[in-house]
Amino acid sequence: MGGREAIATPPVPRAARRAPPGGRESGGLPEAGPGPGAAQRPAEEPWIRCRACGAGIARPADRIALGGRHRHRFANPYGIVFEIGCFGAADGCLAVGNPTEEFTWFSGYAWQVALCAACRTHLGWRFSATGGSRFFGLIVERLVEPPAA
Ligand SMILES: [Zn+2]
Repeated sequence: MGGREAIATPPVPRAARRAPPGGRESGGLPEAGPGPGAAQRPAEEPWIRCRACGAGIARPADRIALGGRHRHRFANPYGIVFEIGCFGAADGCLAVGNPTEEFTWFSGYAWQVALCAACRTHLGWRFSATGGSRFFGLIVERLVEPPAA
């Protein structure tokens, strides 16, 4: 018997794979990706950086002068001399340990060790007075100054 060839398989309609309007994945974070304002600062703010890892530690505008000078030289109890610069803020530093006034270089100020928050290199000290004023003394040779504008 001759068969009828059943046309058994109707053409499968291909699902039209259209990209959604806009062509982007939906459901992403609206802020994701470079948007206006992200990398569009008119002048890139320079950072004083950790010499070991390059992380931003403080900004030039954070420099302060104590006793009329930004830089100070001190020796620790082991006779090691440090040249430090004073900063009112150092966002890239992590202060660790309990504040102590033992051997402090600034009378009335207790100190803590200040580390690079990124690589934990010892960068200097954070000094804080009981009255609430505080600053960072950072070892000059462990930082990289931004290129002069
Ligand atoms: Zn570092």
